[in-house]
Amino acid sequence: MRRTAIFVVAMLLSIGTLMAQEPVKNIIFLIGDGMGLASVSMMQLENNYEPTIFDEAKNVALQKTYSADNRVTDSAASGTALASGVKTNNTYLGVTPDGSVVESLMEVAQSKNMATGVVVTTYLQHATPAAFYAHINSRHEYATISEQLLQSKLDVAIGGGLEFFKERYGSTCKAKKAIAESGFEYVSTMKKLNKGDNATRTLALVADKEVGADSGDYLAEATSKALEMLEERGGEHGFVLMVEGSLIDGMGHGNDAKAQQREMLSFMQAIEVAVDYASEHPDTLVVVTADHSTGGLTIVSAEADFTLSEQGVEYRWTTKGHSGEMIPIYLYGAGAEHINGIMENSELGAKLKELIK
Ligand SMILES: [Zn+2]
Repeated sequence: MRRTAIFVVAMLLSIGTLMAQEPVKNIIFLIGDGMGLASVSMMQLENNYEPTIFDEAKNVALQKTYSADNRVTDSAASGTALASGVKTNNTYLGVTPDGSVVESLMEVAQSKNMATGVVVTTYLQHATPAAFYAHINSRHEYATISEQLLQSKLDVAIGGGLEFFKERYGSTCKAKKAIAESGFEYVSTMKKLNKGDNATRTLALVADKEVGADSGDYLAEATSKALEMLEERGGEHGFVLMVEGSLIDGMGHGNDAKAQQREMLSFMQAIEVAVDYASEHPDTLVVVTADHSTGGLTIVSAEADFTLSEQGVEYRWTTKGHSGEMIPIYLYGAGAEHINGIMENSELGAKLKELIK
């Protein structure tokens, strides 16, 4: 009898907690390509352990990144897992290992009349952003991926990649024509983008290929503009925005700690924009994670005898490729409590799709 009473009280309490949770209207999904836990730890160390934006997370979780055919993933397979909730083979985008098309988070959102967007520091045809709109078994088919970008229902896409449109359509002029015919307004600079009125779907190709962190606060600025556009275009239905700090990966491949810190800072500024937005819009969930880590970064004492007083630290790299350890997930805002524990990367993708369904 007493047990039943305790059970009923526990049930009522958990229902009460569920009801008290903020519903998730908007999702801002930030992916640091190649950002392992050591990259985050390096930024905490470089900040003299003053709290960084990562330290402000309301909840954290871990994800396993292996792909369907490899214990060490590439950005296409992990991008597909995060975007669609399905593990696939390396180099595959938005399709299962047998080639079946899987619906991405963006496509689910579009079917719910939500606005959708992607913002990156690399070209928009690159694996991570492409996982959110393309369906093809080779990430290197840039011409087809460019076509699929134009066929997508994204409301806003900001990044580089004009080069691949020129290659696909023959010239800048023909590329612009194809973009216009697809219903996107083509914008070539951040200045022009900021002057836009948000009324039309926008494809901002602000570089031929990559837009690096040496382009100042580009990522934070583009994130802020995309949020403004998506809020207006999504209205009561809300929106999903994916933001990628794309070049953290490249600096890991190059084993360049200083350059990776620069890319991490640019990504962290974008996270701050997203977290600020969520604090003003309490129905917004912010998810920050990576697709895998790159370079096998580790932080070691410069002196093997750590019983001595401070001997300094060294950033050491163990590979020019990717590595396979678990990746952290940082959560802020509405629904942060829904994502917990140790999960597959595909479980995180599936969970996000479920949250907007
Ligand atoms: Zn890589």
